Amino acid sequence: MNSPFHRAGAPAKFDRGTFDLESASTSLGPPPDALSTAPSSRRSFLQTIAGGTVAGLASAAGLEILKPRPVLAQSTLTPDAALRELMEGNRRFAAGRLTAYEQDLAVLRQHTIEKQEPFAAVLSCADSRVPVELVFDQSINHIFVTRIAGNIATSEIIASLEYGAAVLGPKVILVMGHGGCGAVKATMQGKTVPGQISALYPHIQLAVNQAGSDLDAAIKANAKIQAALLRDSSTVISALVKESKLKVVAAYYDIATGIVTSLE
Ligand SMILES: [Zn+2]
Repeated sequence: MNSPFHRAGAPAKFDRGTFDLESASTSLGPPPDALSTAPSSRRSFLQTIAGGTVAGLASAAGLEILKPRPVLAQSTLTPDAALRELMEGNRRFAAGRLTAYEQDLAVLRQHTIEKQEPFAAVLSCADSRVPVELVFDQSINHIFVTRIAGNIATSEIIASLEYGAAVLGPKVILVMGHGGCGAVKATMQGKTVPGQISALYPHIQLAVNQAGSDLDAAIKANAKIQAALLRDSSTVISALVKESKLKVVAAYYDIATGIVTSLE
């Protein structure tokens, strides 16, 4: 198998950097020894071949790019460990200590052509201030992401997450509301809006009923309600949860601090 998570004979834990070096050395650049003994050379090498533009943007934004860190193989992760991996990634993001861009994106793309094996799924709002992979310091093949205004569990979103859960095997689904969510605010205000925007309202109304005029409370209530909906109304997801193969967790993203907190 070609995925970095499922190389034949690969140990349960391995270093993303090691994978990058082994793969890169066959076709793209200097031998592993040269790279592993010269971190700064390797860094510039990877930035050049894999993400010069992105890395440049990250640097421009004041984000520090660090050495790769160990990651667990998807097949051996527990739901709690998968959640921990997400939260640790978020702590790196919030601290401006990103590592995901150290990975060789070209190699990751090559090794995930046949299949994807995300260790986590996230249901988040479409809001442009919530860039999911960045928020959790993850890269290609790591997170199965569904996004919709208000992070609501519509039939189509449930179908997408059921596909993810049943076929791709993520160990955790994080339902993430965020500060200043316009969809929750609009539902709260209940104003007449053009087009089909108000189609979002019924999905969010229960949270607004629970929270009254407190926007932040409504956003958090909404994340919990949508998470419960996934757990209870999806036969696919609820079965995996009962078998302890999957965990569904509501969370809140603070757009000011960059910090994600679990609501459960
Ligand atoms: Zn939103």
